[in-house]
Amino acid sequence: MKLSELYQSKKCVFSIECFPPKQTENYPKMQATLRQMAALNPDFISVTYGAGGSAGGVSTVEIASYIKNELHIEPMAHFVCMGSNEAKMTADLAALAATGVQNVLALRGDATPLRPQSPDFVHASDLTAFIRYRQPGFGIAGACYPEGHPESATVQQDLDGLKRKVAAGADHLLSQLFFDNYQYYRFVNRARKAGLDVPISAGVMPIVRKSQIERTVALSSASLPAEFTRMIARYQNDEQALFDAGVDYAVRQLRDLIEGGADGVHLYAMNNFTVAQRVYDGIRDLL
Ligand code: FAD
Repeated sequence: MKLSELYQSKKCVFSIECFPPKQTENYPKMQATLRQMAALNPDFISVTYGAGGSAGGVSTVEIASYIKNELHIEPMAHFVCMGSNEAKMTADLAALAATGVQNVLALRGDATPLRPQSPDFVHASDLTAFIRYRQPGFGIAGACYPEGHPESATVQQDLDGLKRKVAAGADHLLSQLFFDNYQYYRFVNRARKAGLDVPISAGVMPIVRKSQIERTVALSSASLPAEFTRMIARYQNDEQALFDAGVDYAVRQLRDLIEGGADGVHLYAMNNFTVAQRVYDGIRDLL
């Protein structure tokens, strides 16, 4: 099933993001986590591609196939322009199609030493158009950034990039994580005014470990509301209290987004079932 059909039939689409293990010996553990996540009834599970520039490990296609064919949940496979070209992308998409997976998230990615810029696809919109016109049959999603992509000089430039992506064939958008819902609502308003009418899922990451504060929060350019920084300051040195407060913050954020009419909510669960379950328990009555 193409995910665009889900957005038409559901008020709020609930999705979870997972990432492939870097070591193949960790795959059985990940499969066990995915089996547990299946009990949370996600409408789809997305699988990242070499995020952070990593290479090797279990492939995105293999995990997407497991989700589709063993768990019978719709997967969405991420693909990136960086490090790829038309021939490689054609082979990757054929491998994906052979598993029955019909949904992809078309991304540019970020350059790393292992992943140079693509000779064929400069922007996500180039990859989106390639899939739409040269490899038809896939539902295509694109990434969006409620607070603007760091490389966009202005809000207008960011919206222009997004419009190109949708014109090229993206059926729906998934947002970068944010901690301040106001940023999402403002972004959606702007996008609608600019004529973008595709569904936009809101990306939320529960911050439950100190290492996430140091990596994710410090590196993200997301605005930090006072309530969030107070939580971090108060609980960062108390493992259990930070876990509980982080889950609680994400639940309140998600409840507001669902009640506020978000087309979908996308949970960056970081392959952690306990977090996903606690969050799901806090929002299931609204889904
Ligand atoms: P683009 O849409 O190409 O945008 C990048 C920049 O270029 C923006 O500033 C945009 O405004 C500008 N732009 C776009 N089109 C044009 C144009 N035609 N001319 C000039 N400027 C233009 N990374 C991974 O490596 N693996 C993953 O699995 C992964 N999953 C992600 C999932 C989500 C939901 C999100 C939000 C991000 C994900 N990323 C992932 C990170 C992503 O690859 C980076 O944020 C990357 O910097 C931008 O990718 P993009 O697809 O948004 O790029």
